[in-house]
Amino acid sequence: MTSIRSIKGTQDILPGQSQRWQALETTIRNIMDTYGYSEIRTPAFERTELFSRGVGTETDIVSKEMYSWTDQGGENLTLKPELTAPVVRSFIQHNLGGQSPMNKLYYIDALFRRERPQKGRYRQFHQFGIEAFGSEHPEIDAEVIALAMTVFNNIGLEGLTLKLNSIGSPECRSDYRNALRDFLKPHFSDLSETSQKRFENNPLRILDTKVPHEIEILKDAPQISDSWTAEDKTHFEEVCSFLDEMGIQYSIEPNLVRGLDYYTRTTFEITSTALGAQNAICGGGRYDGLVEMLGGKPTPGIGFAAGMERILLALGNVETNSKTTQVYIVGLGDAVRPTVVKLAEDLRHNNIRTQLDVLRRSMKAQMRDANKSSATIAVIIGDKELKSGLAEIKDLKTGDQEPVKIKGLVDHINSLTL
Ligand code: ATP
Ligand code: MG
Repeated sequence: MTSIRSIKGTQDILPGQSQRWQALETTIRNIMDTYGYSEIRTPAFERTELFSRGVGTETDIVSKEMYSWTDQGGENLTLKPELTAPVVRSFIQHNLGGQSPMNKLYYIDALFRRERPQKGRYRQFHQFGIEAFGSEHPEIDAEVIALAMTVFNNIGLEGLTLKLNSIGSPECRSDYRNALRDFLKPHFSDLSETSQKRFENNPLRILDTKVPHEIEILKDAPQISDSWTAEDKTHFEEVCSFLDEMGIQYSIEPNLVRGLDYYTRTTFEITSTALGAQNAICGGGRYDGLVEMLGGKPTPGIGFAAGMERILLALGNVETNSKTTQVYIVGLGDAVRPTVVKLAEDLRHNNIRTQLDVLRRSMKAQMRDANKSSATIAVIIGDKELKSGLAEIKDLKTGDQEPVKIKGLVDHINSLTL
């Protein structure tokens, strides 16, 4: 029979790799804790409507990347392609804003997007991220950015660039949209089909283009900062000054924008030179209009999402300290089995990492396995040891061996530094 293979664009995380994931997750959790963020976990699937409203029908995610289906009860459901909309949904549903004026939430989760699989781009992938609800003030913008940079610096990512911009308030954006259209009108016939489509309904997204001659055209385009209100300007300057104060470097990118109306002010992206074409590690920004748009009380919010596969790719295959076996129990013969099974259990309850041969192998094969397992000591119990009540303890580094009472083994091993 042919064997069944995994779906294209999905990955198994095997032992060896899973240790790198755990190390990354532990760092993230510790740093979230230090900054006062609490974990939120939301379901794997939601109503499709949450994403069409919360992410926007014009985005790549909603227009072509969602895994959606109608279930047996006729409900339109979607595997979550991003986390901001589900977290906002949950924030509203459980009235978190009513319980506390400030809510700082984080997540580590798997997401699903039907993309063209390639290095750094998968159909199931993982993100960690945060959403901070309640403050419109620039100190939270700076904190959110600082947190992301702290995680990346802490895990040893190098070659990072923090790109920063402000897209101002919704009022300034309609001015800017007009200014941008006026500027692009004479170039309309030179624009790609995609950009021509965006021209009417969402010209800001044209700034996102990867087409070289469009980038060239856009060099002289008006900048969104020309349309900022006085408050937008102060807000951005304060974000920058707080980052300066914390010693965080950034580069201001006037074309770093988001197309949707509920995005406001700060936007940022973090890229790594250690990656190829898919070099974005983290994207974030402020979305002061989103909670209200999804049916909650008007609440300012800001967050980011970072791609974990890309982080691990950028880190390269650095060795992580994997935990190894400390004690290997070599049991020989039918009679000793209850004793060794119980001994292994007792050692493990004392937090000693213990391996027990369960293949009923020969003494020689078990000793070979013990040496390979990187255990520090082997405990050998055969019929003779069972009868005398004394197990042989072998130091696998020096080869020294000594008899120890089977009854006192756990205490004895506990007293050793393994
Ligand atoms: P891109 O422009 O690379 O498609 P995006 O704008 O779709 O990114 P976001 O939705 O902002 O990305 O997600 C935040 C981060 O999640 C990205 O910066 C990236 O690191 C990661 N990411 C996004 N899509 C994928 C994917 N299909 N596979 C792996 N990681 C991804
Ligand atoms: Mg994408």
